[in-house]
Amino acid sequence: MLYYFLHIHPQNSFLLCIRNLSTAVFIDAKSCSSIADCQKTHVRAIKSDLFSHGFFGDRLVSAYVLCGRSDYAHQLFDEIPNKDLVSWNSISSAFLKRGNATESLKLFSLMRLATNLKPNDVTLVTVLPACAKIQAIDEGKCIHSYVVKTGFSSELKVVNSLINMYGKCGSVNTACQLFEIMPVRNLVSWNSIISMHTQNGFAEDAINIFNSMRRNDFEPDRATILSVLQACANLAVVRQGKVIHGYIVSCGFGLDVPIATALINMYAKSGNLDTSYEVFCEMINPDAIAWTAMLAGYAINGQGREAIFVFACMVDKGLKPDHVTFTHVLSACSHSGLVIEGKNYFKIMAEIYGIEPRVDHYSCMVDLLGRSGLLKEARQMIENMSIEPNSAVWGALLGACRIHNNIKIGKEAAERLFALDPSDPRNYIILSNMYSATGMWRDASKVRALMKERGVRKKPGCSFIEHDGKVHRFVVGDQSHPETEMIYMKLHELTRKMRESGYVPKTEFVLHDVDEVEKGDLISIHSEKLAIAFGLLVIRGGVPIMITKNLRICGDCHSMAKFISLIEKRRIVIRDSKRFHHFANGCCSCGDYW
Ligand code: ZN
Ligand code: ZN
Repeated sequence: MLYYFLHIHPQNSFLLCIRNLSTAVFIDAKSCSSIADCQKTHVRAIKSDLFSHGFFGDRLVSAYVLCGRSDYAHQLFDEIPNKDLVSWNSISSAFLKRGNATESLKLFSLMRLATNLKPNDVTLVTVLPACAKIQAIDEGKCIHSYVVKTGFSSELKVVNSLINMYGKCGSVNTACQLFEIMPVRNLVSWNSIISMHTQNGFAEDAINIFNSMRRNDFEPDRATILSVLQACANLAVVRQGKVIHGYIVSCGFGLDVPIATALINMYAKSGNLDTSYEVFCEMINPDAIAWTAMLAGYAINGQGREAIFVFACMVDKGLKPDHVTFTHVLSACSHSGLVIEGKNYFKIMAEIYGIEPRVDHYSCMVDLLGRSGLLKEARQMIENMSIEPNSAVWGALLGACRIHNNIKIGKEAAERLFALDPSDPRNYIILSNMYSATGMWRDASKVRALMKERGVRKKPGCSFIEHDGKVHRFVVGDQSHPETEMIYMKLHELTRKMRESGYVPKTEFVLHDVDEVEKGDLISIHSEKLAIAFGLLVIRGGVPIMITKNLRICGDCHSMAKFISLIEKRRIVIRDSKRFHHFANGCCSCGDYW
């Protein structure tokens, strides 16, 4: 038996063994928190001959895994005689706990190949999360069919793990089907179906499911609250967010850092910075994460100076900004054109705080320099990058070239982007529009042909607006809304009024629409225009109209929103995929620079 230990730990094992010989007792290997603990227990186990009874070994194996010595663990595991299902389950789950899902799955396959053991519910709730973690959907599907065949589909824990696995692998529909047919659900089932919708970009559904959870008398917990707040932030639906805020207060969840940060983020992304600030002030001891959330709020709303002020206060309080803080402060500088400040932050980030610039920081810097017209300097920055530039970096350069109409650098950036991400329609559209804008029609049509040849399709644009506790969704030319007739009448009325006060449709933006069906006068029925018309109909005067758009707002919708804010004397806030536009009195907060 000494062989085991000598084999693993040849130097001082013998001495240790002798010392512990007299005190050999059964020690729960679960309590081992270091390699030294494991080794002591190991010695005792060897001495008391526990291994040969097929007992105890699996616990020690797990302890080795959890202490980061998978080499010892594997060696010992191989030597356990008559390994049963418990042994296999415990080592597999130890690897998962240690974050090594691949190893956990490997062991599962090995068990299936090398033994006749039948996986039980414990096995399943270990391997399914492992599949989820590394998005091994094919393995997950095999396990699913095993679950069905063996009748484990009546086990709540197993079905919850299946739902979670499909959700993490992006198969939201399959997860929903499983959820629908569940005879019994618990809080874990609801939480995983809600968070999966949030994480996969279906914020609208996440909120609807949350509401139906409440109708089914399930009390949300912190995890539910955090997912739904994120969904509200993604959709910018502040009414729903406020309901949840009220719920947090009345149920006494307390304003700890994760919840407060989620609230700050939700209000900021819905354009309600004042409320974000109120939440922030209610926090007793905001930490660096909370300060960063507040800073990010100002940054995304284009209030660069305020963001910089928050940064200064945070440093004043002795809190240390991290790489996320710097990403936000740099993006604040770039949205507000603060070139000197941005360059300074980029410099002190490395020099004072010892943070190596990451790809996000570079893309903010390229954006900042590029937008300000320093295209050559931006190009040079990419040249000097210590890491590989990604599509965000080249995308920032291309966006800047579009603003300043620099075809030469723009073409290079677009070509890099075509290579990095050939399926992203935006790059083709920007380049083709740049050519069109300078009358280079042949080049423009070449780019569109390339796009067609590669089968790249423009993502359909859609806009969301919240009213009466519901999220209303519009696509271009939408006629599915129950109030369609009224909406189109309002839109015609608006167009007439706008024409009278000098509005001319910016038809060059028709070129954004590469699809044949989206040509011509469809520009007048873009989703955000429909949403604005609907908002004017149903949202009472004095309340700003808040719209979220999944893509970048087009130039025509932008100028229309400015006109409407003037003629109808309404504040309109549009959050597009890039930034916020606060329209008031015929102007936009972005200064037409986005
Ligand atoms: Zn538009
Ligand atoms: Zn704007």
